[in-house]
Formats: sequence, structure tokens, C-alpha cells
Amino acid sequence: MAIETFSKDKLRDVLVRSEQEGAALGHFNVADQTLLKAVVAAAADTKIPLLIGASEGERDFFGVRQLAALVKSIGQESDMPVFLNADHTHSLAKALEAARAGFDCVGIDFSALPFDQNVARTKEAVQAIKAVNPAILAEGEIGDIGTGSEIKEAVQGGKLSTPEEARQFVEATGIDILAPAVGNMHGMLESMVQGKTKKHLDIERIVQIKRAAGTFLTLHGGSGTEDEDFRKAVAAGINIIHINTELRVEWRRSLGESLARDPNEVVPYKILRPVVDSVRQVVSSRSRLFRGELVRPGAVASVA
Ligand SMILES: [Zn+2]
Repeated sequence: MAIETFSKDKLRDVLVRSEQEGAALGHFNVADQTLLKAVVAAAADTKIPLLIGASEGERDFFGVRQLAALVKSIGQESDMPVFLNADHTHSLAKALEAARAGFDCVGIDFSALPFDQNVARTKEAVQAIKAVNPAILAEGEIGDIGTGSEIKEAVQGGKLSTPEEARQFVEATGIDILAPAVGNMHGMLESMVQGKTKKHLDIERIVQIKRAAGTFLTLHGGSGTEDEDFRKAVAAGINIIHINTELRVEWRRSLGESLARDPNEVVPYKILRPVVDSVRQVVSSRSRLFRGELVRPGAVASVA
């Protein structure tokens, strides 16, 4: 079903190999085909595996089965190592919908509930999606890192995950991937968009959680994080890094620029092509950084 047709390698194998190579996979959210084209083009440019993510809101807008069908067709046309994740899934019904549509991974998110309820609901969803296809990876979330990949007035979240709750959560739920709160946050402050401030991660906590959990780890809310913190987080055991707000900021900026360039231009693909190229550069740059190929903004990158 899902993975065999999306890519020649299974997501679990790619994660294991990336970890051995000291790299993390980028996870880039898409809400429409312009963003999907940008992410796929970046995967083709860099030849670096990545995850395409879609939250419930993004899936509702795109269409769950329609997005899965497009990613499947991309996998059939090329050997591009792209995988599909159902990001932040808040119900059993939505988790099953994504699993049946052929997603490679389902991010189950009951982290807003008390710990015991988070455990119970996550475990139930893990068992349900594995019954659809045992190869689908299940991610679970603990801690509070705020909600929404948007520009924010103030810092959200703050309750960091502990190694002990990470261990308990993984053991009790059977998840393959854990998303802890380690100083990360969804969305960006305006000062982060301007590049004046950066997010910083609790690297020692990541080391301890990795040791306690013994699973793959995802870092949500990566947008606006200090490059050096990303590098240290990957070395500490982070396997997947989510970037969404940075793509949305670049999408809006480049769309505005493209529309303003010629007020009489009405051809959609002429307006949207520069948007695809702009977002593609952000994705490529992040993917390379997560593999340890540090690329300065504006630098011409060359990869082997
Ligand atoms: Zn997230």
C-alpha cells in the first residue's frame, strides 16, 4: 500500500540510515500544489530525502486522498525519496482517514489532554493505523509548544518534556517517533521573521530524552531556530525537523512581490512560478542544513 508505491525505500529505513549519517530529515508542510511543487523540486535539487507534511487544516484544504494521490504519482515518476506525514492529527477518525489514504506516517497529537488521556488516545490510534498497514509509522506528542504555524505576538508553550514522561509515553503507546517539547515552539515572533531573534533548544534535555525514549525524535516548530542549535539537536538525537512558518512567510512575501510586479498579469502559472522557486530555495537550504551541509543565506550551494 502506502510506502511501497511512494518510494522505493521505507521511511523507517531512511530514518535509520540518516541517523547513522548524523543527519535529520526535513519535514515541510504543504497546503496547496504551489507549496507541494516547491518541496518536491527541492527534493529533486538536493537529492536529500524529506517528509511532506499536512496538518488537518492543510489536508482539509488540499483533500486527503488528493494529496496522497499526487505524492504517489510523484513516487511513480521518479525515485525521489519523499514521504507523506499526516501532521497533528487530533482524532482517531482523521488518523484512520490518512492511513487509509496511503500516508507513510501519522502524527497523532493528543498533547493538549492530561498525560494519562494522551497515552490512552494515542495508543488507541497507533493500534488502529497499524491495523490498516503495519508499515505506517506512528508519531506521538508530549508537552506544550503552542499551536499554529503563524506569526505570533508572544511566546507560547513552555512546559518542557521530561525524560521520565518520554520513557513512559513511548512504552505505553507503542509509537515509533516521539515529538517532545525541548525549547521549540510552533510559529514565529515578528522579530524572528526579521531575523533579529532566534529560538534556542535545550540540547541536554534532547540527549536525556533520546536516551530514555530510545525512539526516533521529531522537532516540531523548527522555524526561526538558530542554525547551530539545529546542528547540535541532530547530534543529540533529533531525526525529523518540522519547518512550516518559514515556508508560509516566504510564500506570502514572494506571492505579494509577484502580484505587484505586473498588476495586469492574470496567468496563474506566471504569477505562481516565482513563488515555487522562492519556497523551493528555503526548503533546499533547510534540507542541506539538517544534513550538516551548512549553507549561508544567498550562498550558491553545490552538492555532490
Ligand atoms: Zn508541529
